[in-house]
Amino acid sequence: MEASLTTVLAVVAVWGALWGSFLNVVVYRLPRGRSVVRPGSACPSCAKPIAPWHNVPVLGFLWLRGRCAHCRQPISWRYPAVEALFALLCVGLALPYVQAVLIDGAAWRPALTAALGEQGFAFALMALALIDAETFQIPDALSLPLPLLGLAIAVGVGDLRGVSWASSASGALVGAGGLFALQWGYAAATGREGLGTGDVKLLAGIGAFVGLTALPLVLLAGALQGLAFGLAYAFATRGRAVSQRGLASLRYLALPFGPFLALAALQWLLLHRSIEPVVVRWLSGS
Ligand SMILES: [Zn+2]
Repeated sequence: MEASLTTVLAVVAVWGALWGSFLNVVVYRLPRGRSVVRPGSACPSCAKPIAPWHNVPVLGFLWLRGRCAHCRQPISWRYPAVEALFALLCVGLALPYVQAVLIDGAAWRPALTAALGEQGFAFALMALALIDAETFQIPDALSLPLPLLGLAIAVGVGDLRGVSWASSASGALVGAGGLFALQWGYAAATGREGLGTGDVKLLAGIGAFVGLTALPLVLLAGALQGLAFGLAYAFATRGRAVSQRGLASLRYLALPFGPFLALAALQWLLLHRSIEPVVVRWLSGS
């Protein structure tokens, strides 16, 4: 059993690295309005096409020692990092389902559906987080399909994932409605727009995947991590302004919220099986 578990997870890692390679293409091309399918990958410096054997995730980068085969310009370390990270993410998301099938003898079809659904969700989250961090925009092509995908997964394999279709549908509605109200209140109170409509669509998608009961926890975790990062970033980059003019100088610091929401949703997907019992015990006060 041990050997087959390792083999399956190795296959999942390769599968994840290949999709991680496509994720790089999406993150680079989607905000520039270019097709993610054609043409094939090319060097951003000299525009020469990249040979398939140099385009192997992570290994191609190592083989070329981080430089283009034609013009020798450095290739960003972000490409292999995204590939490796998405491979790890796919393994982490698949692990409980692979264990359920191999060790507990669960049916493989619903387990595969649930694992693929969560990996698709993670793909969209990671792509939109990287795009939002760079451009302060969340493309509709990534955020709009998420509520439908989440609901479809809940209808299909809801009992396996522990998120029923009712929890998924209400999570999507409350996610969109709650953030829309927050956005409206923030704009009314400050006269500025703090949250984008992209965040509203994203939270609807997250609600559909994690379900209604987990949604407040994910929102809170995203907000706290965004706040912690924002403060650390502000003190690192504007330390002098803060010491001279106080915390008021942080008021106009602009940070996208999307990456932190996406991060919190991914953390929940990976960790909820260990977090949920703790929260339930804490809420019941014992
Ligand atoms: Zn080149």
